[in-house]
Amino acid sequence: MNKKRTLGKLRSAILTACLPLLLSMTACSDQERLDYLQLDSMETEESAESREIASAEDETSDPASESRMTSDSRENEDSSFVESTDSSSGENTDSSSGSGEDPETSSHDEHTEFDPYYEESTEYYFQEPESYPAPENWRELYPHGSAEKLDGTIAVISIFANDLYCKWDYEDRKDRSTYSRVYNNLKIACDYLTTESAKYEKDVTFVWDWLDHPELYYEVEVNTDLTKALTNYSVTDQMVWECIEKNIDSENIRRTLEADSVIYMVYVDAPETNDGPCCTRNFYYGMPYPYEIVYLQMINRSEKTPPSVFAHEMLHTFGAPDIYWTDIYANYRLEYGITKEYAKKAADNELNDIMRITWNVNTGRYQYYSISPEITDITAYYVGLIDESETVKKWGFDRSQHDK
Ligand SMILES: [Zn+2]
Repeated sequence: MNKKRTLGKLRSAILTACLPLLLSMTACSDQERLDYLQLDSMETEESAESREIASAEDETSDPASESRMTSDSRENEDSSFVESTDSSSGENTDSSSGSGEDPETSSHDEHTEFDPYYEESTEYYFQEPESYPAPENWRELYPHGSAEKLDGTIAVISIFANDLYCKWDYEDRKDRSTYSRVYNNLKIACDYLTTESAKYEKDVTFVWDWLDHPELYYEVEVNTDLTKALTNYSVTDQMVWECIEKNIDSENIRRTLEADSVIYMVYVDAPETNDGPCCTRNFYYGMPYPYEIVYLQMINRSEKTPPSVFAHEMLHTFGAPDIYWTDIYANYRLEYGITKEYAKKAADNELNDIMRITWNVNTGRYQYYSISPEITDITAYYVGLIDESETVKKWGFDRSQHDK
């Protein structure tokens, strides 16, 4: 296939369609990847105008008015619950002090990172933007969004996102390293969730490796600030939902892989200065699209995002609530009626649950090659690994969405 001609066709298709955001499926060589990024970054007045219209429409109808958005940042932890300590011991609530083992500077030779970027790339795959609408009956297929219970086969779709400020530049060594970190984090998180589920006698298989499955890998350009996904969620979700709807044949992927759930990971090459947290668009009633999306800022408050945060966010898509209290919740409540009192008790008892902490409970530091917090009964219940939880019964919290 003549690549130049294909890209030219893509360009005209994009200009004609005036898509507010662009995406295509690729699994390509360095130069091809670069070409594609350059193409994606092109601006036209026409497309800018159409984005303004789309954006204005977003504001008039807020599709997420009843939604819950879960956010995660160590900054959010209420320091009144946990004594702030230095980085050497105890729970670390100050994200600026101590960054755990840095995967890029660590001398852990035994942890030879696999660098997928340098692997022989799979065959170049190009597909023009098409429309792949969610099936009409998606609410029957996925009563709680694209991720149901943490059970069976789960397809993980990876989307590397460029936005107004953050760009993936694969000529840059640092970006290649971050890309590798995404790959390794995702592998560790999926392995962890499989192992933790097995403790509850559930057989969970994640299909995530885009080197084996190029249909699970995407690059996207969106005209917004993805590091603000939490605070600007109605616009961000709408953009990413439309992008998924128009360009990813989710239904085909689901059927081919015989997947019970599909989740969408959006990776942002955030700068050192980023203070926007990782967050998840999980299901809410009235959601206009089924797609549940995890937004991963690869750096937050100068700390590299570890695999535990990947796993924590992925668990939200299956229904897990946060079990820590943060200032952010001052205006809301924790999900399922979980009380501030319970969150405080969990903190006092150093509950080693991944929905409470994402760092090592003993060191207070992030780990980059493994995940030490567990899935305890409360989280297991809300993601459907078990049918009842002593904790939920005792405290009288709401039933799990999976509890029929
Ligand atoms: Zn969370």
